[in-house]
Amino acid sequence: MKKVFNFSAGPAILPTEVFEQTADACRSFSKSGLSILEMSHRSKEIIAVMDEAIALVKELLGVPQGYQVLFLQGGASLQFSMVPYNLLPQTGKAVYIDTGVWAKKASKEAKLFGDVVVAASSSDKNYNYLPGIPQNLPADAVYCHVTSNNTIFGTQMSHFPKISLPYVADMSSDIFSRPIDVSQFGLIYAGAQKNLACAGTTLVIVREDLLGKAGRTIPSMLDYKIHIEGESMFNTPPVISIYVSLLTLRWLKKTGGLVALEQHNKAKAGKLYDAIDNSKLFTGTANKADRSLMNVTFVTQTPELEEAFLALAKERGLDGLKGHRSVGGFRASIYNAMPMEGIDALVSALQDFDRAHA
Ligand code: PMP
Repeated sequence: MKKVFNFSAGPAILPTEVFEQTADACRSFSKSGLSILEMSHRSKEIIAVMDEAIALVKELLGVPQGYQVLFLQGGASLQFSMVPYNLLPQTGKAVYIDTGVWAKKASKEAKLFGDVVVAASSSDKNYNYLPGIPQNLPADAVYCHVTSNNTIFGTQMSHFPKISLPYVADMSSDIFSRPIDVSQFGLIYAGAQKNLACAGTTLVIVREDLLGKAGRTIPSMLDYKIHIEGESMFNTPPVISIYVSLLTLRWLKKTGGLVALEQHNKAKAGKLYDAIDNSKLFTGTANKADRSLMNVTFVTQTPELEEAFLALAKERGLDGLKGHRSVGGFRASIYNAMPMEGIDALVSALQDFDRAHA
């Protein structure tokens, strides 16, 4: 079968060995003769999967004491409400930084629970840059919400400036792509279906001392404390998505951990951005200083050229390159599992297209 590289924003490419090991586990898991799809989440095999996945998250990210790691459901979208439900008192305030569609959705939900201060926004330029985080944040706010990587607009925070509040970060599209200092964060969340696994689970890392202060009754399924007590098994967890997470985490560790990965991600993105910048027909859409290492957004000059490039890409086995409707053009999502070989194939296609049509 022809090799196809998946540049889709998510569900996304995963390491080939993860696909293979998952297929094996679907046939028979851990010599049990049972498929992982039919095994009880209370079995010793699945409890071991959960324990190892949590331990690897802690190890790879260097999660300090006082934090809990959870595998939940509902996607990153449920975290838009769960975060303020649990952390934002009715009479309290939270800061949101508006850097794109997902950030806006997060702040919209938070407004149902308390006072939301949008301290900075880049909506004036269709979110093609990062507005920065003001230093004079309200002292009475409980957290500052950021989207570390804006999947749609191709911008990414290169670092997290020191501020007076704990960050709450949506890291759905760049978790595990680089080392971070978890102690700067009150809470981190990420839907699995980009850098971690198939859709189904959502990773949450929460500083436990922030919980129990919102002063409201929280329905059990939305209460982080209940999930902590239940060790992410308050109800039946999405076992297959957690198992795929575990396989990806093992691969991350084997590949050299997050420092090595960040270097590789920089090399991949650098090569692709260079090809775009050196072309006549393609232009990157994000402000150069804010460019994402995960989602590379670019456009060409006419709808005809756009169609023609997508046709060439398809012919060459480069899938999922059509840009999101709010930016147009193209988006190459080059998450951790995208090999350099995929970048080289895309760069060749860009260069050949440029030569043929410019
Ligand atoms: N946040 C970001 C940054 C995303 O990229 C996405 C999905 N593309 C979401 C949130 C929504 O995630 P989910 O579909 O898991 O709710």
